[in-house]
Amino acid sequence: MKWTDSTTISQDQKFLDTVLKELILDHIHDMIFIMKVEEGKGFRYVYVNESAKKYTMIQQKDMGRYLEEVIPVEMAVDLKKKYLELVETGERIIYQDAFYVKGYKVINESILTPIKNEVGLVDYVISITRDITPSIEEKKKLVKAKERYKSIIEHNLDAIFILNSQGIIRESNAAGCSLSGYSIDALANMNIFDLFYPQNKKLLEGALSQSLLGNPSSIEHCLLMNEKGEEKVTQLKIVPIVVKEKCDGCYIIVKDITSHYEQSEMIHYMALHDQLTGLWNRKALDDHVPLIIHNMEERGVELSLLYLDLDRFKFVNDTLGLKGGDRFLKKITERLITLTNEDCLLYRQGGDEFIFLLKNCSFEDTKTKAKEILALFVAPFIMETQEFYISPSIGISRYPADGYDSNSLIQKAAQALFEVKEKGRAHYRFYQTHMKSSFPNYIIMESHLRKAIEKGELYIHYQPQVNLSTGNIDSFEALIRWNNRKFGFVSPAQFIPLAEETGLIHQIGEWVLEQVCIQLQKWRVKGYRSVRVAINISPKQFQQEHLVDTIDFYLSTYKISSSCIEIEITEGAMQDTQQTLKMLKKLKELGVFISVDDFGTGYSSLHYLKRFPIDILKIDQSFVKEIGMNQKDSAITTTIIHLAHSLGLEVIAEGVEREGQVDFLKEAKCQKAQGYYFSKPIGPKEIEQQQFVLM
Ligand code: C2E
Ligand code: MG
Ligand code: MG
Repeated sequence: MKWTDSTTISQDQKFLDTVLKELILDHIHDMIFIMKVEEGKGFRYVYVNESAKKYTMIQQKDMGRYLEEVIPVEMAVDLKKKYLELVETGERIIYQDAFYVKGYKVINESILTPIKNEVGLVDYVISITRDITPSIEEKKKLVKAKERYKSIIEHNLDAIFILNSQGIIRESNAAGCSLSGYSIDALANMNIFDLFYPQNKKLLEGALSQSLLGNPSSIEHCLLMNEKGEEKVTQLKIVPIVVKEKCDGCYIIVKDITSHYEQSEMIHYMALHDQLTGLWNRKALDDHVPLIIHNMEERGVELSLLYLDLDRFKFVNDTLGLKGGDRFLKKITERLITLTNEDCLLYRQGGDEFIFLLKNCSFEDTKTKAKEILALFVAPFIMETQEFYISPSIGISRYPADGYDSNSLIQKAAQALFEVKEKGRAHYRFYQTHMKSSFPNYIIMESHLRKAIEKGELYIHYQPQVNLSTGNIDSFEALIRWNNRKFGFVSPAQFIPLAEETGLIHQIGEWVLEQVCIQLQKWRVKGYRSVRVAINISPKQFQQEHLVDTIDFYLSTYKISSSCIEIEITEGAMQDTQQTLKMLKKLKELGVFISVDDFGTGYSSLHYLKRFPIDILKIDQSFVKEIGMNQKDSAITTTIIHLAHSLGLEVIAEGVEREGQVDFLKEAKCQKAQGYYFSKPIGPKEIEQQQFVLM
C-alpha cells in the first residue's frame, strides 16, 4: 500500500473502498476512522466504517470535511491534540476516554496509528476505537475476587501455607508466621516437612500426594515445632490447588489446637484423678482393675483390694472445719503414698476412704501391707501445732476368691471394713463369706434410710450399764437398730454417719428420743423401778438450738422425769466452747445427765472438763479392749478413772468383754461398765424378761 501527498481524496476513497473495505468489514464492531493529514496540520475524515457511523454522529456525508467541522469543538480540540502529537512523534498512541450513552458510562480505548509516506511523514491517521467497558468490568471483578481470596488467606486465624508440588512453601499468611515463629521470608522456600516433627512425615507425605491427585484430606493431630523449639499440636487440612484442571501444589491450613488438646488432656486427667489429693479416683480404679486382671491372668497370680476408712474422721472435720479436714486428708495421702510402687496402687474412693490395689500379692504379703498401713498412723499428724491421732480401719477382698470385678471386690472389702468398724476399728480384716450382705452403695442406702422410720424398720436396743461395786443395773444405753427388708441388718456405725451427712439425723435423733420416752413411760406404767437411759446425740443434733426444747417437749408429753435421761455427746461435738457451754447449761437446767462418749478419742483439751457441767465420762472401748494386756491402754484407763474421780464425775467403761477387764476396772474403782461380758444391747422385752433388771 502506498499513500502519497499527491493522492486525492477521491482516489483515496477508491483505493480504500476497493482494498480496505474487504479487510475492514462493516460488521467489525470496533469503530474505525481514517483521517487524512493535511498540510497546515488539518485533519480530514476520509473513511469511517459502519460501526463508527452507528455509534457516532459522523456519517458518509462528512467524508472530506475537517475534524472541527464534524464533531463538537471541545472534543475536536482534544482529539486534534492527540493527532498532532502523533504526527509529531510518528509513534502510535493509545488512550482511553469515557462518555455517557443513555445514562450508561461507556469506556473506549482508541489506538491511533500513523501511516507514513516514503520520507517518513505521517499522511494518514487510523483510529480504531473499541468499547472496553465489559472487559474493564471483568477486570474489576477479577481484582475484587483476587482481593477477597487474598483476604481469606491473609486474615485467616489459621496458618495457611501455599506449597508447590514438591512441598516447598511458596507463600504463607501472618498466622503462619506467628504459629511457626518464622518470618514470611524465612518461610518462603522452606520445606513443609521441616516445620513438623519427623514422626508425622509419613502422614504428611500421604496427604500431599493425595492432594496432587486432586483429593483434599485432613490430619487430626500433627506435631509442629516452632522456631523456638516449642511443640504445637495442630490439625491440618490439605486442599489441592487446581488450575486448568491440573494440580499445581496445595494449601495447607494449620489449626493450632494446643490449648484445646491440653484442655482435653486436663479433662481426661481430671476424670481419673481426685482433685484434692491428686490420687487416682474410683473411675480410674474401675478402669484399672480389668486391665490388671487381664495382664495377671497370663501369669496366674492374685490381686488384693484394701478398702481403708479413717476412724472418726468426722471429728477431725468438726474440729478443723472442712478446709482443715481437707488439709488433713492431704497429709494422710502423703503418708499413704510412701507405700506405693509399681505393684501397689493407691486410689481415693471419696471422703475419708482410700483403696490400695496390690498386684501379685499373696495372702501373707497382703497382711504385711495392711500392717504397714496401720503403722503409718502410729505417729500423730500435726495440724496447726496440734497433734492429731487417727487410725484407719481396713477391709480386704481378694481376686479371684471374692470377686471378678472392681464393684464386687469393693463391695466385699466394704463388708469386711464394716466388720472392722463394728469390732472396734483400727484394724484390718479379710472378707469372709459369712459377713453380712450390705448395700451396694450409699445412694441406695440413703434412699432406704429415708423410708426406714415410716416402714417401721428402726428399733432400739438397750445395753445395761452395771454398777461394778454392787452388780446393780440402774441405767442403760439406747442404741438404734435398723433391719432393712431388702438388705438386712445394718450397723449404726454404717448408717449414722450417712444420716449425719444427709441431715436425716435430725429426724432419726428425734425419733430415738421419743421412743426412749415412750419406753420409759411403758415401764413406769408397768410398775417397774425407775431407770436412766443414755441417748446418743450426734454433733449435728447438738448444734441445734432447739434441742433442749425438743427434749423438754417429749419429757412432758410422756411425763418422764428429766433425771431418767442421759445425753451422750462425743468430744468432737464440743468444739465451739461458748456454744457448748450455753447448750450444756441449758441441758443441766432441764435436769438431764450429761456424759462424754468415747472419751479419750476426741481432740479437745482436758480444759473443758473443768468448765463444762458434765456428769459422766465413758472410757472408749479401744482403751478398755487392751487393758491388762497393753500397758499404755491400762495406764490411760486408770488415768481417766482417776481424773473423773478427782473432778467428781462418774465413770463408765465401754466394751467390757472379759472377766480380766472387770477385775481391772473394779481395782481401779471404775463405777460402772457396759459390754458383752454383762449383756449385749437387747430389746425392751428381753430386758423385762431378765429379772435382774427392772424389779
Ligand atoms: P457408742 O455410742 O460408742 O456405742 C457403743 C457401741 O459399742 C455400740 O455399738 C455397742 O453395741 C457396742 N458394744 C457394746 N458392748 C460391746 C462390747 O463388749 N464389745 C464390742 N466390741 N462392742 C460393744 P453399736 O450399737 O453398733 O453403735 C455404734 C455407734 O453408733 C455408737 O457408738 C454410737 O456412736 C452410734 N449410735 C448408736 N445408736 C445411736 C443413736 O440412737 N443416735 C446416734 N446419734 N448415734 C447412735
Ligand atoms: Mg454411746
Ligand atoms: Mg461409745
